[in-house]
Amino acid sequence: MRRLTRPPLPARTSAFLARCQSRADTLQEQGTLDIEREWRNARQRKALTGVLDALRNMSGPHWRCMYCTDSHGCDIEHFRPKKPYPTHAFHWLNLLLCCTTCNRKKGDQFPTLNGAPLLIDPTVDDPWEHLDFEPESGLIKARYDAQSDQRSPKGLETVRLLALDRREVTIGHSKTFRRLKRTVERALDAGGSAPALIAELLEEDDHGLLPWCFGEIGRTVEPFSDLRLQQPDTWMACEAAFR
Ligand SMILES: [Zn+2]
Repeated sequence: MRRLTRPPLPARTSAFLARCQSRADTLQEQGTLDIEREWRNARQRKALTGVLDALRNMSGPHWRCMYCTDSHGCDIEHFRPKKPYPTHAFHWLNLLLCCTTCNRKKGDQFPTLNGAPLLIDPTVDDPWEHLDFEPESGLIKARYDAQSDQRSPKGLETVRLLALDRREVTIGHSKTFRRLKRTVERALDAGGSAPALIAELLEEDDHGLLPWCFGEIGRTVEPFSDLRLQQPDTWMACEAAFR
């Protein structure tokens, strides 16, 4: 999962969402709200393409799913599902881009603990605070916290709900990891400037793995550990760029 920054929406799109939400809230008060129908109707309006465009821009050049970072993100996803949370249905902060598989697996589920979401929102959370990557298998799993001696509850629920340990996600992450390793190995052999290496790594990082590779655990894994020892200045520049 890749950490994402959410930009503000264009004023027209924002106003359209506000009108849709206000109408849904009124219907809710009257007891006649069919949120699926409201969403379907809004989805057919040209104004909603502004939301899709903004989400695609956020997700990067390949429009990848914001949950699995592996498949094509094809539709607007409600982080808080619209049926149990109709008051969030048209809130920009509640909308993500998601693939059909993640959408189907999540459905109307939204696990919480004391009212707080137990699902990673890549626009709010740093995913690698809750997730870990296994270089040998490409597996995404919940991060272990030595202090509390347990795996991150948010990481556990996110992996379970979206089945982030499913085969295709694992293969995709493995391929990206191998590319990142080769890029660092080439830099170790040939040298070169830190900005050039950073640009090359960003180009190769389809799955948002760089913060992991240059973080607490990845720094102990070859060839990232070699870069840290042999080219400390380059390492520090990368670490700062991918934090
Ligand atoms: Zn997905």
